[in-house]
Amino acid sequence: MCGILGIIGKDNAIEELVTGLLTIQHRGQDAAGAITYNKRFNLKKGRGLVQDVFNTKNMARLLGSTALGHVRYPTMGSYEETEAQPFFVNTPYGIALAHNGNVINYRELKTKLEEKDFRYINTKCDAELILNVLAAELSHLGKFSIDNLFSAVNKTFDAIQGSYSVISIIGEKGFLAFRDPHGIKPLIYGRKENSYAFASESVTLDVLGYDVTDDIAPGEAVFIDRDRNVHHKNLRDLTHTPCIFEWIYFARPDSIIDGISVYEARFRLGKKLAEEVRKSNIKPDIVIPIPDTSRAAALALAEELGVSYREGLIKNRYIGRTFIMATQSQRMSAVKKKLNPIKSVIEKKKVLLVDDSIVRGNTSKEIVNLIRTTGAREIYFASYSPPLRHPCLYGIDMQMKKEFIAKEKPINEIKENIGCDKLVYQTMDGLLSSLQFGRKKEFRFFCTACFDGNYPTKVDENIFKEIEKDRIESKIYIQ
Ligand code: SF4
Repeated sequence: MCGILGIIGKDNAIEELVTGLLTIQHRGQDAAGAITYNKRFNLKKGRGLVQDVFNTKNMARLLGSTALGHVRYPTMGSYEETEAQPFFVNTPYGIALAHNGNVINYRELKTKLEEKDFRYINTKCDAELILNVLAAELSHLGKFSIDNLFSAVNKTFDAIQGSYSVISIIGEKGFLAFRDPHGIKPLIYGRKENSYAFASESVTLDVLGYDVTDDIAPGEAVFIDRDRNVHHKNLRDLTHTPCIFEWIYFARPDSIIDGISVYEARFRLGKKLAEEVRKSNIKPDIVIPIPDTSRAAALALAEELGVSYREGLIKNRYIGRTFIMATQSQRMSAVKKKLNPIKSVIEKKKVLLVDDSIVRGNTSKEIVNLIRTTGAREIYFASYSPPLRHPCLYGIDMQMKKEFIAKEKPINEIKENIGCDKLVYQTMDGLLSSLQFGRKKEFRFFCTACFDGNYPTKVDENIFKEIEKDRIESKIYIQ
């Protein structure tokens, strides 16, 4: 999971860019980077939060009215600073690029680029690969034209398997954005006077004062030329399957993605979950959200059951989300550091805890234990998404089959493992029906592969082994 933001046509674009990157900091906390263009590229990237990487001194040299930036959570490559985005190449035109997603056929493409195009990839970051695929296609097409640019994007679609929402500065020519043919990762754009912004989430446009133009459609490319004319082309017509986890967990609740409000989606998921809680004959005294993601769902669930909603766990807001802390050992120790229970709320109560999902079960187990030692009479645990069983190949940090507690264990064993008295999951029907609302009226499809194994793109079985090997080698996952 990463976040991207591009700004075109704003004097000293870096100032707005850094403010905007802060609004998508939740999408990646490992590294941040930005590149600006004023007849040359000016780059700054580094490990850490946006506020750790940028300061008045380095921003002063990031000149130009066009800028793009990135916040990184690595699912490919390692944690080295050199792996952080954006990247740029000198030829043709000078192209800078950042993306959010994950290229599945990385190895095959790298070999092709090196053997056919003599383009050598220096890092393991797939953004460098996408950049070189696009640059190679543009070079083959010769003279620059908007038709040729869109043809190069079309060829890039042919070459790359996986998910990718891409923003790119094409030297003196303009600014390009495109979304993969299934539109798995979000990308939205908007306008303010004579400038444009492209961002992972609508919250960035809200905060920076841009009026939303539209979400980029799956397989669509948008190009803003140097005179600020907007050109766009739908290059593919495949089923749109955005990542359903954006609404469950990743995106900020104040964002609207592909016309669906994240907050409203979570609220509806909570209402649906209430049906499953009733069926399980659970009668809690209080409902407590596991902060922060599950607040809206827990509130809706409590309202639906007619039970009190209480904030019984207080989060230290200065510690990052456990999920996006990079290694398993960091993740395990982080739970106690970041959550503290309120004894007067919990003691002697039958508590229903609500969380967005259960991946490995370690975090849930620690939280249940924390609530138990605080004096709860009974503890029920409800996940507002269904059991997670399959690796994500599209850029989310759950890529190894053995990471999923629900892969081998039936629900009763998961309950025993995490130590609660009853465990309830959302159903797939409940999940999908909760997201059928918003701007588009027709029935929507989503990527739900981590729940049901239905991957929207071509997937070679060997890829699972390759990913596990890569991650162990790069120590992204510590066994
Ligand atoms: S597999 Fe799951 S987390 Fe990955 S893109 Fe699909 S829905 Fe999102």
